[in-house]
Amino acid sequence: MKILIADDDAVSRRLLRQTLENWGHEVLVARDGREALETFLDHPVRLVITDWMMPHLDGPGLCRAIVEHQKGTSDPTYVILLTSRDSTGDLAHGLGAGANDFIAKPFKTEELRARLRNGERILALQEELIRAREEMRRLAMTDPLTGLFNRRAMLQSLRRDEERMRRERRPLGVVMVDLDYFKEINDRHGHLAGDRVLERVASSLEACIRGGDYVGRWGGEEFLLVLPGADAVQCAEVAERCRRLVESQRIRLDDGMLLRVSASFGAASTEGPDRIPYLDLINQADEALYWAKEAGRNRVKLFVGERADA
Ligand code: GH3
Ligand code: MG
Ligand code: MG
Repeated sequence: MKILIADDDAVSRRLLRQTLENWGHEVLVARDGREALETFLDHPVRLVITDWMMPHLDGPGLCRAIVEHQKGTSDPTYVILLTSRDSTGDLAHGLGAGANDFIAKPFKTEELRARLRNGERILALQEELIRAREEMRRLAMTDPLTGLFNRRAMLQSLRRDEERMRRERRPLGVVMVDLDYFKEINDRHGHLAGDRVLERVASSLEACIRGGDYVGRWGGEEFLLVLPGADAVQCAEVAERCRRLVESQRIRLDDGMLLRVSASFGAASTEGPDRIPYLDLINQADEALYWAKEAGRNRVKLFVGERADA
């Protein structure tokens, strides 16, 4: 385990380092709290053993800084305060600052070993919980069939992007995509073939967009492209590129048959003097999509007020 020790006393520093290295740990050393914090920020470690009294930044101060840094990261750190202080008030102060455990100074080898094991066990538990939480988060945001963002994730990032674009005074573009006659594909070739088509179209759409843009599965056979910064014309261009790619694909089914599909696209952007909320923007893209369906499918329509163009 990578361990950082902070102690202003050279003798006890050397002793601690020697002991930990003999047990096979990798040890980083700091001579005071400030140096320890700098080292910690440069080389994240799982465990810190720190003296209480040190110049510049004391042990509890270091604990607080580490706790502060941990917020929003997914790498837990376990901090053991090394101290000759043992009044209840001191212990409470140290724990309040974020220390996980104490060792009395001068430390007894057996006690140090036991407390390290304890720390390792708790770190392992914390790391497992964090992994599980992140996996849950990922699953809650992902469409299992295509691996794309699901509607919930799209709504979340749309809200963020709308705010960001509003601040930067840039447009936000969206494109609603709906496969043409998809029900027929299911009816003729079966639901699994339909699923295969959805997967392939999802990859095509992903391949069409640039970094910063993203695509999600909005519903059954509907996808939504989000293009931060794109005005209406740029949205229509991206949509047209996607349309061509989807149309040009030949999707091989399990029985070897090659299938062609197409999709209709409705594009809209917040470009212009009157900014509109993103939910209205999605409705506009939906409206344009409806025009594309009406006009014969396999085409792009751009929302322009009461009329569809492009
Ligand atoms: P249009 O060109 O007007 O869009 O016609 P359509 O057949 O594509 O549209 P419709 O809304 O009538 O049918 C959509 C179909 O998509 C019906 C539904 O069973 C199918 N579908 C929705 N989700 C899935 C899925 O996850 N897998 C499969 N295989 N089919 C799905
Ligand atoms: Mg459809
Ligand atoms: Mg549909």
